[in-house]
Amino acid sequence: MDKDFEAVIGLEIHAQLKTRTKIFCTCSAIFGGEPNSDTCPVCLGLPGALPVLNKEVVSMATKAALALNLHINHESIFARKNYFYPDLPKGYQISQYDRPFSERGWVEIPTSERDEQGRAVEWKKKRFHITRLHIEEDAGKSIHDGMPQSATKSYVNLNRSGVPLVEIVSEPDFRSSWEAYDYVQYLRKTLLYAGVCDGNMEEGSLRCDANVSVRLRGAEKFGTKAEIKNLNSFRFLQKALDYEIDRQIKTIKEGGKITQETRLWNDKEGKTYVMRSKEEAHDYRYFPEPDLPPLTVSTQYIEDISQHLPELPEARRERLQHLYELTMEESMLLTQTKEMADYYEQVTEASGNARLAANWVLSELLRELKNAGKEITECPVTARDFGDLVKLIADNTISGKMGKEVFEKMFQTGKSPQLLIEELGLKQITDPAEIESIVKTVVAANPKQFEQYKQGKQALFGFFVGQVMKASQGKVNPQLTNDILKKILDA
Ligand SMILES: [Zn+2]
Repeated sequence: MDKDFEAVIGLEIHAQLKTRTKIFCTCSAIFGGEPNSDTCPVCLGLPGALPVLNKEVVSMATKAALALNLHINHESIFARKNYFYPDLPKGYQISQYDRPFSERGWVEIPTSERDEQGRAVEWKKKRFHITRLHIEEDAGKSIHDGMPQSATKSYVNLNRSGVPLVEIVSEPDFRSSWEAYDYVQYLRKTLLYAGVCDGNMEEGSLRCDANVSVRLRGAEKFGTKAEIKNLNSFRFLQKALDYEIDRQIKTIKEGGKITQETRLWNDKEGKTYVMRSKEEAHDYRYFPEPDLPPLTVSTQYIEDISQHLPELPEARRERLQHLYELTMEESMLLTQTKEMADYYEQVTEASGNARLAANWVLSELLRELKNAGKEITECPVTARDFGDLVKLIADNTISGKMGKEVFEKMFQTGKSPQLLIEELGLKQITDPAEIESIVKTVVAANPKQFEQYKQGKQALFGFFVGQVMKASQGKVNPQLTNDILKKILDA
């Protein structure tokens, strides 16, 4: 980014609440049904059909709002947002407008710029403010043969029509694409922890729009903003923001003007392009939804739900970092999902060794999961067995190298480490008498080297270590072997 300029970015995130049924009818809200099969008069927008609010939506929206430190309004109003689109059969979307479900929240999270290799430069905590979180229904989905502008055929699937969403609108607090990236990552993580969204961006459960403008560094007035819509992956979000920031700075430096418009990201070309010039908010002619009463939630209701919220990602990350003396990176990786954090804490408890548990989870476990294309929830090794393995390594029953072999086998077979160590005959030899007898045999078998060693050729020590390892098939305890070998050679 040009040093004279700074970017100002605000984000709107649509998250699908993972209820079984839709927001105003009993149709299934689960992704992937036959096109238009999960529909009824309500979500098809047939005349006279009446919406009934799904209680589960309110409970999940409450969890989401609390997790993001939002103030929940005791009374909020549903409103009709009027516009025409083929995938919106009613001609309006039921949303919330001037009296939203919740307002004025924030998150305080680690964020960092990244270097050329994509590595974090320096993690710093920063607070980002959230303007509002409101409840709304989703529209259907249009599928075009080719680009929308030139498609010869278009199709409409209304399975998504009436699926419950929360829209989370941030303040324009982000100054770089990476701040936006870290925030969206964190938001996704929080919604997953709270159990209200599956976070699947490919299936559209989490969508992101960004408002971007640039201004001279130090200026107070905002520049004209462009909106980039449908950033449906973290990579697209970050790349599109960087492109758009550069485009605007370049336009201004060349004496041009930024126009307020909606743009789309084209990943193949690595560019944003104009979708339409921006319609003003009043074009939607919002008015209160006459078929739904105001939504009221009591203090008691909010308190009951808040009691059942799990520990949230940043609180948990901080706790783990301090309690187990982890680095920022380690604590971030280990709290990536609630299940990963649970797993790590169980391994730590079973092994009694937080440091070694972190090393093994972050290297061996993550690698095996990645190779197998599995999530932590599908891990074939129980945390208890993994903890036992870490313990066996910590107390030198087996070496780290053997531990890796055992872990691979545990991952393949689901067997316990004790059983595998027996089966593979890997148990480390820690009995000094046994090691001594191996050492003596080795020394006796190599009289020439022994003579040279005694004459001062110290480097041969390594040769003897190697021979003892070979004779024991690598099973002798290295530290004990060193001590005993020294004692015998130097005797
Ligand atoms: Zn329906």
